[in-house]
Amino acid sequence: MPLGPLDVLADLGGHVLLLGIGHTSNTTIHLAEQRLGRSLFYRYAKTAPGVWAEFPNVSGESHRFDDLEPALAPKATEVRIGDCRARLVAVRDVLEATDRAVRADPRALLCADPACERCADAYGQRLASA
Ligand SMILES: [Zn+2]
Repeated sequence: MPLGPLDVLADLGGHVLLLGIGHTSNTTIHLAEQRLGRSLFYRYAKTAPGVWAEFPNVSGESHRFDDLEPALAPKATEVRIGDCRARLVAVRDVLEATDRAVRADPRALLCADPACERCADAYGQRLASA
């Protein structure tokens, strides 16, 4: 499972360190989505001539993950390293903020653009599993 190491990190009380990036690159949020039952994606790749492999539980869209910034900023330790904004936040806090946002609104962290197939798929799957 691609998110397995983050699952272990959550159990160990670990932290996420964001170095010059935002929550759109915070893979821990995908773990929270998975725990909430939001289905992840399947990818297919040709591994040899004529051989296709299925890779389940691949993380989906993340372009709205910065919506969690207001909830996570008070819980993060932030410093500047030159031009780099460095933030440290507990995995547990990321999971709780995501859980709270998605339970309050199943469309949280998804965009309203009907052309955004990944967000539409994630929302449809969420409804299907509810
Ligand atoms: Zn979208």
